[in-house]
Amino acid sequence: MNAISSSFGHLPVAVIGAGPVGLAAAAHLLQRGLKVRVYEAAETVAAHVRDWGHVRLFSPWRYNLDAAATALLDQTGWTAPPLAEHPTGAELYDAYLRPLAAIPALAAVIETGARVRAVSRDGFDKMKSEGRDMAPFVVLVRGGDGAERRDLARAVIDCSGTWGSPNPIGTDGLPVPGEREVADRISYGIPDIQAQADIYAGRVVLVVGAGHSAANALLDLVVLADRVPETRIVWAVRGRDLKRLFGGGSADGLAARGALGQAIELAVRANRLTLKLGTHVTALHPDEDGLRVEMRESGLRTSLLVDRVIVATGQRPSLDMLREVRLDLDPAVESPRVLAPLIDPNLHSCGTVRPHGHRELAQPDAGLYIAGIKSYGRAPTFLMATGYEQVRSIVAALAGDWAAADDVRLDLPQTGVCSQPDALEAGTGAAASCCDPAGGVSVEVVAPVVSCCGPRVEAPVAAVSCCGPKVEAAAPVMVAADPEACCAPTCCGPEAARDATADVVGDVAPGVAPGVATAENCCAPTCCAGSEKARDQVQEPAAA
Ligand SMILES: Cc1cc2nc3c(=O)[nH]c(=O)nc-3n(C[C@H](O)[C@H](O)[C@H](O)COP(=O)(O)OP(=O)(O)OC[C@H]3O[C@@H](n4cnc5c(N)ncnc54)[C@H](O)[C@@H]3O)c2cc1C
Repeated sequence: MNAISSSFGHLPVAVIGAGPVGLAAAAHLLQRGLKVRVYEAAETVAAHVRDWGHVRLFSPWRYNLDAAATALLDQTGWTAPPLAEHPTGAELYDAYLRPLAAIPALAAVIETGARVRAVSRDGFDKMKSEGRDMAPFVVLVRGGDGAERRDLARAVIDCSGTWGSPNPIGTDGLPVPGEREVADRISYGIPDIQAQADIYAGRVVLVVGAGHSAANALLDLVVLADRVPETRIVWAVRGRDLKRLFGGGSADGLAARGALGQAIELAVRANRLTLKLGTHVTALHPDEDGLRVEMRESGLRTSLLVDRVIVATGQRPSLDMLREVRLDLDPAVESPRVLAPLIDPNLHSCGTVRPHGHRELAQPDAGLYIAGIKSYGRAPTFLMATGYEQVRSIVAALAGDWAAADDVRLDLPQTGVCSQPDALEAGTGAAASCCDPAGGVSVEVVAPVVSCCGPRVEAPVAAVSCCGPKVEAAAPVMVAADPEACCAPTCCGPEAARDATADVVGDVAPGVAPGVATAENCCAPTCCAGSEKARDQVQEPAAA
């Protein structure tokens, strides 16, 4: 037993959240003969997974099973699923997580309907230091009957996930004006579009976001549009990096994840949806004909009339319950600080991460760990396999088995899209893999397109470019920004006409296929130099 727990080692380890990683933590604790108490806020285990149960995982079963959990399941005569197949979230629950949680030894320590409201140290508020580590944790729990109680714990592993805290639509991380007022017409994450076909079929749906969640929602909408061709899909992304957008394709270590990006790329090329690059939603207004979405597209103000919005801009960890304990989180990523450089998408996008365990995940309050997808904070590339290794290491540390705790191994598939900002700055257009220092994977870095005051891409870069006819993707050609140039629309004519045509695009005018650029509906800035402010000064009078 480690020093932290010697005076209260009879207490259980509190695991917050019975998702895949929380359940794995419990299995490892039981395997080592340590007491555990699992708190699950929902009425069943794995509530978040069930919420996206209609989504097919991109990792096959072999990456989705924890070793201690399967060892427990094997004792029950459980039949392992086919390791190469990809389950849906619902299948992950039915074939693995539900039977795991039903094993009597686990069922006895899991409390569903129990929401952890706060964690502290018994008798020690956050400010009080002396003797702090010798006090057990106190876990404030609201049980199924609505009553609050305080449980003591020798250690806390927070595996409460991030799915319950979706990011709002605003580029600044805040809800845009009107977002709360029109909440009934917004879905966050990946709604079950087929099950809710009545609210999506034949409608104009705007999907905002560039990750796998957006891709899943878009492909579901494309399937729906096959059945109900009047369905119009508009996809708004803030960035301009098509390589990042469409993923690593066949270079992705997870074939299904690569295929997801490829399917989206095909849908864009086939004009099944309208892709708006460099687009930021700035406000939402109810309108008698639907929902008016105010946007900045490549610096220009536009608006779009839609019926529904799907916001797939990621999730963030809820830190409220950890207010009274001492945390050391990265100020940007909101992951444990030392983990951040390994997963920060600004630095690293490969999907691989250096093996890490109890040392990286430990918080300043000894005995407190954040694990599972919550340990990645706002970073997007978490895999269950990472979480299983995290909790194996943490539990080994809690058991005082330091050799096992420090022997951390991870075998993760790469995304096939690795980037280093340095390469962009150097203007090389190519980067050595950030995942494979030996340079085993060589990937192209796609430069930002038409970034104000950055390099401009002159050659066609996308199948869906705003101005001019559709073109096949080709290698971008970088040209130096012209310091005299300003951001002005090139192909739109007078501002009034541009605004009118923006609405036409937004409303998907009859006879105009979504995604097709025409002389009437195109509108893109060409340029850019000078400061953002200078560009805005040029823009604002024009847009007024
Ligand atoms: C759509 C989608 C697809 C994904 N596909 C893959 C994939 O193919 N492969 C892969 O490896 N990973 C995938 N992931 C990433 C990740 O592995 C999953 O999100 C996984 O579910 C994370 O497990 P977790 O246990 O950390 O958290 P979660 O599954 O989010 O579980 C957290 C649990 O904590 C509970 N909880 C929350 N707050 C409290 C509280 N205050 N008190 C008590 N309980 C609480 C929740 O109800 C929930 O049951 C995917 C994620 C998403 C969203």
